[in-house]
Amino acid sequence: MSTRSSKLDLLFKDLRETGTPNEADWIAVILFIRNLLSRLSIYSDDKKSEIQFEICEQLMQNDFSEKRLETVVAMLDGYLLQTIGALELEEALAQEKRTAAVLINEMNEIVSSMHGANERQDKRLHTFREETVEVLRDDSQKSLIVSRVRGMFKELIEEFREEARVLNAKAEHFRMTADFDPMLTQLHNRRSLEAHLRHTAEEFARTGTPLAVMMIDVDHFKNVNDTYGHQAGDDVLRALAHIVCEHAVRYDGFAARYGGEELMVVVQGMDLNRAAANAEALRADVERYDFRVRTDGKLADDPIGFTVSLGVARMKVGWSASELIGAADTALYEAKNSGRNRVCSARK
Ligand code: GH3
Ligand code: MG
Ligand code: MG
Repeated sequence: MSTRSSKLDLLFKDLRETGTPNEADWIAVILFIRNLLSRLSIYSDDKKSEIQFEICEQLMQNDFSEKRLETVVAMLDGYLLQTIGALELEEALAQEKRTAAVLINEMNEIVSSMHGANERQDKRLHTFREETVEVLRDDSQKSLIVSRVRGMFKELIEEFREEARVLNAKAEHFRMTADFDPMLTQLHNRRSLEAHLRHTAEEFARTGTPLAVMMIDVDHFKNVNDTYGHQAGDDVLRALAHIVCEHAVRYDGFAARYGGEELMVVVQGMDLNRAAANAEALRADVERYDFRVRTDGKLADDPIGFTVSLGVARMKVGWSASELIGAADTALYEAKNSGRNRVCSARK
């Protein structure tokens, strides 16, 4: 059974990754076989093994076409109807006080509360309703079958929803860690910065929308690490990221971590002078910031100052994104060489 489960896990993973058209339905089948089936008391253990074996055989063919899905669903439907033992049915029927009309209403409510994720699922739910309603009208004995099918359906859908919630949370986590810096979570990471620069550089070439970057580097950052420790250095970076984001958001700038202690803000629709003025306001806010080293969660009594140097450049016709970064880097170098804690604009 364990090798079968791990094959199912692989299939489940494959399905999630390949984006099969009936993905949700196939996943429901796999979830049914893998998780739900063993918990259903209406089947004997032998019957469960038989169902698992037969459905697994179908799944292992790796054919996820609509036609195969119909075969598998028909097999499942068959098991549902075959397996409900007559004795069990009678016993439960004795307790079954509800009329067919009440059941029809309940069925309608349940089905309409199960909003399908896609058109096909909606269709299946619709068919499910039509069929069960017919069964109810047909023969009151079948009402039990229907209520059981309904119960299983509910459980199956719940399970599927729960799994979908977990997968969505994981996807969200991957999205965050793929686009944002894991340590300085408000900042985009290098990969995301490069994509943004490519996109804005294309826009500049196409529409001429001004594009500028500010490159920000902490002054004598090694001293912070050496004097107060790496943890304090990390806290300084977090404080800086916070200030940079606060500024960037005002003019819709794209704030990112370019490298270790180098951050970057990409701005559109702003000429070089305005970008430099904004960079200057950022520099001044960093200089004023009351940063205190934290030891065992306790803040030090006295602040330690830290400063940044900034290089600002604007995009020129015919340049690539890396030429723009190169120009900002040269300006930053100049800021460092002329005393630090200042903004320099590219001269080119
Ligand atoms: P400068 O004014 O010339 O920029 O001097 P600097 O000491 O800041 O020199 P430089 O920029 O070359 O050195 C950066 C240092 O930043 C080296 C590295 O150990 C440290 N650093 C890089 N990333 C991190 C980080 O995530 N956390 C900490 N604590 N330190 C980092
Ligand atoms: Mg540096
Ligand atoms: Mg530095």
